[in-house]
Amino acid sequence: MTPADPLQDPLGAVPGVGPARAAALASAGLHTVEDLLLRFPLRYEDRSQIAAIASLRPGTATIAGEIVSAEVRPTRRPRFTVFEVRVRDDSGEATAVWFNQRFLAQVFRPGQQAVLHGTVEWTSQGPQFQSPQYEFVDLEPDQTGRSLHSGRIVPVHERVGPLSPKLQRDLVARALARLPAHLPDPLPEEIRTARQLPGRRQALVETHFPPDGTSVEALNACRTPAQVRLILEEFLLFQLALAEQRAAVVAVTKPHRVAVDAEVRALARRVLPFRLTEGQKQALREIVDDLQRPVAMNRLLQGDVGAGKTMVALLAAVVAMASGLQVVLMAPTELLAEQHARTVAARLAGTPFRSVLLTGGPRSRARAETLAAIESGAAHLVVGTHAVLEDPALFHGLGLVIIDEQHRFGVGQRARLRTKGRHPDVLVMTATPIPRTLTLTAFGDLDVSVIRDLPPGRLPVKTTVRPESRRDEVYAFVREQVAAGRQVYVVLPLIEESDKVDARAAVEMAETLRTGALAGLRLAVLHGRLTSTDKQAAMQAFVSHAVDVLVTTTVIEVGVDVANASLMVVEHAERFGLAQLHQLRGRVGRGADQSYCVLLYERPLSDEAKARLEAMAETTDGFVIAERDLAIRGPGDMFGTRQAGLPTLRIGDLRRDQPLMAEAHALARDLVARLPADALPRRIARLAWAGRFNLAQVG
Ligand code: ADP
Ligand code: MG
Repeated sequence: MTPADPLQDPLGAVPGVGPARAAALASAGLHTVEDLLLRFPLRYEDRSQIAAIASLRPGTATIAGEIVSAEVRPTRRPRFTVFEVRVRDDSGEATAVWFNQRFLAQVFRPGQQAVLHGTVEWTSQGPQFQSPQYEFVDLEPDQTGRSLHSGRIVPVHERVGPLSPKLQRDLVARALARLPAHLPDPLPEEIRTARQLPGRRQALVETHFPPDGTSVEALNACRTPAQVRLILEEFLLFQLALAEQRAAVVAVTKPHRVAVDAEVRALARRVLPFRLTEGQKQALREIVDDLQRPVAMNRLLQGDVGAGKTMVALLAAVVAMASGLQVVLMAPTELLAEQHARTVAARLAGTPFRSVLLTGGPRSRARAETLAAIESGAAHLVVGTHAVLEDPALFHGLGLVIIDEQHRFGVGQRARLRTKGRHPDVLVMTATPIPRTLTLTAFGDLDVSVIRDLPPGRLPVKTTVRPESRRDEVYAFVREQVAAGRQVYVVLPLIEESDKVDARAAVEMAETLRTGALAGLRLAVLHGRLTSTDKQAAMQAFVSHAVDVLVTTTVIEVGVDVANASLMVVEHAERFGLAQLHQLRGRVGRGADQSYCVLLYERPLSDEAKARLEAMAETTDGFVIAERDLAIRGPGDMFGTRQAGLPTLRIGDLRRDQPLMAEAHALARDLVARLPADALPRRIARLAWAGRFNLAQVG
């Protein structure tokens, strides 16, 4: 943006904003004119139809008049008060009541002019508003011949400290009045024309002061052309920044080359213990195509729990290793890294490739040897946690980085992988499916492969939801499964942010079961406070079927694979998030026989918790569950923190505006391919998002 951009003026430049108001606005994060104008009203009220009091009918209405009286009335019920005002206009009088809002006596005064908006009922005193919205207004018209506050559709902004909605409406009008006739517009004209969207200035004006006749319903749903235009602009700038990121990666030729020939195919077949599903084949084709390109791969592999992403990753690794490249496979936990290391070592046994497990453990001879093998290139595949990347000097011809089960490896972190002249191919694998909008947002710079199918012979896990009071039946079922030679997980929720408390809960639960309902069965406990040796021992005992029932906290959530486990009992299932429940349930149903999941809940059950449990009982399709999760929780909660890669959006809402994000994604890739780097939209996008994405560091 040019330095003269009036939208970047501090709010103090707007008439009516002195130091005190500027400070109040700043405390709400509003510093510039743009901040104020790109803050959508909380809602809109149709005050274009101000009813004469004499014409009121039961229903919703807006009136404007003078306050005649205002008083608190005690009632017969102790501590229950009614605040009542009488309002008069040229045609008659009405009353309005609020319950238990004594403070209103300090707010309303006879003689004030007010607009009331809300539901009217009929009483012995005539028309009465029940807890209406109210606003004190100057009913006289302004210079333009109409009031900002009535006789039109008015915006209602969220209160900011001492700044009432009415005052803000005033300030917004003044800020709009200062704008020059023409504002630079990052939304290309062809798109505006094609979509029939207004220019930037008009969109700002009409978002705050909609023209007469605009649908209030559309306004409140943020669906008017003016609002859509501003949201699309925000999404487009964000997507342009992602597309820039992608373009920077694609602009650099990677130093290594990958080739696929008959020998590589033979090696891959030797590694593969089963036939790939169609989904796996397709994903592998896309990945291997990327590996063979001169520019680095930047790909996300999505697939449901159990879809078989690991084997696809391993085959990609074989292809890279066959071209003399080193490969890193990173897992989010040591437990999962250890499991991967076992799988990988077993599968690579008949090949010339060596894998090592690098953990964060103490210095030891074994560790020193591992490091030396990595550095010399004697180790071809390095399995570990993210700590693996801490020493970038370590590797020997690193060509492919695979990041497993990880949402939280954001754009910035991926960019850092490419510093120091390294340009590895990068494959990110998600733990569970992510809704499409969030994929386009958190991973918008990546290409995406999706595995939709599951390996053959999998029966969907049968899921039941039971109140905790029926746990005896559930334990009887546990015994049945164990008697049939199967194994069972009993999962406890994270109670607090404390491993210690959770560990104790797990130990106590195991003790209770061992001496009570599950006496005679072989139990083990797994929790986050165990040393990694003990964790591994517990896991190993379960894997080798030395243990029937594993009582565990959510440490088993990620990736653990024991095909003989046929039942999972989740305690306090109401406390788990939907994605987490789905991820947990994926630990069973890995063998050929029917598996079960019992979700035990304790009352009271919130509406959201109920919706989550119902979704679990209804479907096992992770893609469906992910969309449901987004609908229940919203994107912020679903993805956790900002680090997870979701941008802080000012006006757009990833739930409400899903199609607009998809549109912006496609537009951005097209524009970056077509427009020169110094074109206005690209420049604005870089400025707006550079800090967040480390764009400067890349390329
Ligand atoms: P995820 O996608 O959740 O990481 P995994 O890679 O752990 O899934 O695979 C789950 C299980 O399915 C593993 O035991 C794996 O060996 C098995 N598997 C993967 N692909 C196939 C296939 N095509 N046919 C049969 N079994 C498969
Ligand atoms: Mg996996």
